[in-house]
Amino acid sequence: MSLSEVLARLRALEREWGREEGSARLVAVTKGQTLQSIEAQVLAHGDFPLGEGRAQELRDKAAEFAQAGRRVEWHYIGPLQRNKVKYLRPVTLVHAIEAGWQAEAIAAAAEGWGHAPDVLLQVHNGEAQKHGIPVADLGGVLSDVRATGLNVRGLMVMAPEFGAEVPAPQAEDRILQLFSDTARRAHDLGLPELSMGMSGDYPLAVRAGATLIRVGRSLFS
Ligand SMILES: *Cc1c(COP(=O)(O)O)cnc(C)c1O
Repeated sequence: MSLSEVLARLRALEREWGREEGSARLVAVTKGQTLQSIEAQVLAHGDFPLGEGRAQELRDKAAEFAQAGRRVEWHYIGPLQRNKVKYLRPVTLVHAIEAGWQAEAIAAAAEGWGHAPDVLLQVHNGEAQKHGIPVADLGGVLSDVRATGLNVRGLMVMAPEFGAEVPAPQAEDRILQLFSDTARRAHDLGLPELSMGMSGDYPLAVRAGATLIRVGRSLFS
């Protein structure tokens, strides 16, 4: 697949599920990709936000693109460690806030930067997953994060990886349920953005109302 094929699918899925054209935005996940391939496979097609999951890699790529005079919108989609926050200066949206202290660390660094990224809260997916805020704690973490002054734009979730023991149709049902539940929670909290869906499951995410689709592999294979 290529970016234009993924985009065509996104537009078709929006039509299929009665969504406004362009309401499911592509975030091109570029971890592990070279500048040359990002330029050719992604930026040659338009100004898509680039999603990186490792803070140092993001810092290095951002510096190289800046040096080349290329303006890029950076999203940080990975888990956040305290000592890595300093690398996130170029970022406009952090997708996976899991705790108030992370927001505090970003807000503190942002004072020095003179600008602050917006953030999304990562919701735990209810399966065996290390990351994410348990649903029961979502309201509390939302208040904590807002208290830092950061702008909380929405929720993010990652579908579990079901092993071979779960048949594909069942796995799909459970992922769609997770995405729909997350969409309802975002709606109930008055949060407009929903970061859901990767190469393997973005059709379900568009169906459930995702506004930011984080696709990597499909753009580069
Ligand atoms: C790698 C990654 C993606 C993209 O996954 P693909 O399967 O390559 O499309 C999306 N979200 C997060 C958090 C990732 O780490």
